[in-house]
Amino acid sequence: MPIIVQKYGGSSVADAEKIRRVAQKVADRRAEGNDLVVVVSAMGDTTDELLGLARSITDNPARRELDMLLTAGERISMALLSMALNALGVPAISFTGSQSGIITTDDHANARILEVRPIRIHEELDHGRVVIVAGYQGVSRSKEVTTLGRGGSDTTAVALAAALGAAACEIYSDVDGVFSADPRVVPQAQRLREISYEEMQTLAESGARVLNAQAVEFARLAEIAIHARATAGGEGTHVVGGASEARVSGVTGRDDLILLRVTRPERLSEVLQCLDERGACAWEMTCYPEAGFAGLLLSLENVHNWEAVRAELERQFNGEVCCCEQMGAVSVVGIGLGADGTAARRSLETLAGMGLTPHGMHLGSLRLLLLLPADRVKEAVRRLHEEFLGG
Ligand code: ASP
Ligand code: MG
Repeated sequence: MPIIVQKYGGSSVADAEKIRRVAQKVADRRAEGNDLVVVVSAMGDTTDELLGLARSITDNPARRELDMLLTAGERISMALLSMALNALGVPAISFTGSQSGIITTDDHANARILEVRPIRIHEELDHGRVVIVAGYQGVSRSKEVTTLGRGGSDTTAVALAAALGAAACEIYSDVDGVFSADPRVVPQAQRLREISYEEMQTLAESGARVLNAQAVEFARLAEIAIHARATAGGEGTHVVGGASEARVSGVTGRDDLILLRVTRPERLSEVLQCLDERGACAWEMTCYPEAGFAGLLLSLENVHNWEAVRAELERQFNGEVCCCEQMGAVSVVGIGLGADGTAARRSLETLAGMGLTPHGMHLGSLRLLLLLPADRVKEAVRRLHEEFLGG
């Protein structure tokens, strides 16, 4: 029987009623003659709540212990969904990431999957069971429990789809696929019927939360087609190979950035080491030593002890690294953007209309990135979406 991997996001399993509804969807898909492996996220805002709980204990939690804590969120939903399926008369069993054979690096809070050995999943599918897998987690070679970075349940699903040779990888959430901007910020945003891996990965890296960037990267390498859609129904978006024609596919933003200016670029590698040891890796980096400039952008998405990291930077580099907090970035993403200066010029003019000059700008083949104060990001996303995609 063909194997289908499905993943349900936190909002789709937010309460008991929703979990029962997901169980029914899974049962129906199985009744069509498929083997089902179902990856779940933590219920609703559980991950944020657990992070809040940790921060109420200390602002410098050990990353190992945070992973022990955060992985509990997905364990709750996996067990409840398995119970719901069994209650419908569908045999099911739940597994943690470790039991599913998801082997990762030991970078707590932001681990990468190294390999997947789904031995127990195969055994249970052979016994006719639906297998429920806790997303967002794995185990390192030294047997430590790890998490895959925020939104990492998508990565679990894609990695399992690849390892199991699945016929499909379906990612369910509360939005019907990928839009040209976050529809909560830009109501005129359009659903994209199809998007290339490259564009999707760039959108995800630039802050679009609909799919996880590492998951898309995995899908691209393993040539797994992703179908992102709403749990409630709808046609969704297919993420597939093959380049589309030149176009702007979306505008997205993020407001969780820190800009580090390194005034002595010769110390850059020491700064990187200091960050690395604390699990804070650069999201973007620019260095022109001749001009005496090195700039690093950090995303706080998977850094849960920023105050401690900042204090350490101040101690070690004493005035040679300066931290500008509350930064954000807006990205215009699409094919052929880097071909000429048009997109950059239009963006600068649009921002000037808002009385804004970006703190930084970077043009690549698929993305124009503009660095802005965090509190202007949403408005800039709306204006740039209007400029490039109408509405
Ligand atoms: N529960 C985790 C998060 O909120 C992982 C996920 O949802 O994919 O980031
Ligand atoms: Mg979540």
